Amino acid sequence: MKFDDLGLSAGLLRAIGEQGYTTPTPIQHLAIPPILQGKDLMAAAQTGTGKTAAFLLPLLQRMESSPPGKKPGPPQALVLTPTRELAAQVTRNAEALGHHLPLRTAVVFGGVKIAPQARQLRQGVALLVATPGRLLDHARQGNLDLSRVKTLVLDEADRMLDMGFIHDIRRLLALLPPTRERQNLLFSATFSNEIRNLARGLMNHPEMVEAGTPNTATPRVSQVVHPVDRRRKRELLSHMIGSRQWQQVLVFTRTRHGANRLARQLEQDGLSTAAIHGNKSQGARTRALAGFKAGRIRVLVATDIAARGLDIDDLPRVVNFELPDTAEDYVHRIGRTGRAGREGEAISLVCTEERKQLADIERLLRQRIPHEALEGYEPSTSLRPRPTGEEKRRSRKAGTQSKAPRKGRPAARRTTTGGARF
Ligand code: AMP
Repeated sequence: MKFDDLGLSAGLLRAIGEQGYTTPTPIQHLAIPPILQGKDLMAAAQTGTGKTAAFLLPLLQRMESSPPGKKPGPPQALVLTPTRELAAQVTRNAEALGHHLPLRTAVVFGGVKIAPQARQLRQGVALLVATPGRLLDHARQGNLDLSRVKTLVLDEADRMLDMGFIHDIRRLLALLPPTRERQNLLFSATFSNEIRNLARGLMNHPEMVEAGTPNTATPRVSQVVHPVDRRRKRELLSHMIGSRQWQQVLVFTRTRHGANRLARQLEQDGLSTAAIHGNKSQGARTRALAGFKAGRIRVLVATDIAARGLDIDDLPRVVNFELPDTAEDYVHRIGRTGRAGREGEAISLVCTEERKQLADIERLLRQRIPHEALEGYEPSTSLRPRPTGEEKRRSRKAGTQSKAPRKGRPAARRTTTGGARF
């Protein structure tokens, strides 16, 4: 299937070519036709699958065929995203893909001055990308009218719920035209019960599409766990960056404080490093990201929330300096690499205190991640202790020597072959 076969307009096809896209990704292939037909759609797609263009292309096409009139007025399409970075990223994509269309796009998010955004909104905008909190502020200040929105997109809806945006979303929905009078699109990495509940009140008999199995890591990303004591992680990371001559690495920590501390320590080790997290100003975040993309910054240390929406071409690897508490975040983290058909590497430095998180991740992925202790950095306690004789006997009896844990059953109980005793 080619983009030509999807019935997209000449202006969009030109922009697609300029972006260097040759064939639609699976989610684009599945999502574009029903959206073009005006249907509501729930799509399960992870970051890095081309999901943004999957909703932007048909959205732009529908807006192109019913232009807002000579003077731009209130927004006709609204894309809600959980984070500022994702909002900025979606906007960049919309501007690139809508380059040959006469549609005005704007973005609003918190952490920056509200007045310039208000001025822009009053001038009129066709496609508005926003984070929920700041959009509500604008609506309350009377800076925009949401009653003309014909298409609503919730991007990374699972993350919006995780971040507690449900109340803001409900308040915003009350300002939009009734559900049946607008097209509703919901994109999420997973279809959890919470997402299905949200969709029930929001959508009109949606079609559902899934690109690949949800909750699985992309096969193009090779994954490895290096067991190491917690106190030696920083030293190991510095050593790996230096000895393997990594020029660009995205490193995840669990907390903002941890991100700051690690960034400081790596700087002291002589590695140009920046931290990106929710306590940093928008300016600092933008500068750090620009420096990283341009190659001036070698190591970008990020927390999960800050990393949502980062789109860095050719990011070769991510390192989990600490495993996330939520297994789904691991999938999002490693989805930062191996994008758009490229290979990627996901390396996790795991200490014994993180056994539970590792077990949760492997259970979610239904996959065992290979362990490789690095010489000189072997941990004092093994991450996967050898099974006892009794455990081996029980395991043989139960015939549970399979390599991957089955759905819904804890990995720890599935095997005792030295694999998953957490
Ligand atoms: P997304 O999942 O929307 O974050 O997209 C991930 C990356 O894939 C972005 O850098 C897009 O520019 C790129 N991309 C989207 N669609 C395609 C396509 N059809 N072919 C190649 N790259 C694409």
